[in-house]
Amino acid sequence: MPIRIARGLLAWWLRRAGYAGITLPPLGIYLLGHRIDDVRLRRHEAAHWQQYRRLGLVRFSALYLWGLARYGYQRHPMEIEARRAERES
Ligand SMILES: [Zn+2]
Repeated sequence: MPIRIARGLLAWWLRRAGYAGITLPPLGIYLLGHRIDDVRLRRHEAAHWQQYRRLGLVRFSALYLWGLARYGYQRHPMEIEARRAERES
């Protein structure tokens, strides 16, 4: 599970969108530089990586986008699962 610092256009987009990180399978997890050591954020994105590993790239991407349209970000079941993982060690 590669974790990298987001740079350039991706870092710009993350800041603009109000996110600190994003999981972009199969490339890896990208975090803003000042949040690279944030344990909760790393757990959150690692949970998304596990979802990708469990579902495969096509189903992960399709389910994520469908859930976003259906539930929005906060109530998205995959986000709820990732937020739960933030609290687990
Ligand atoms: Zn998330």
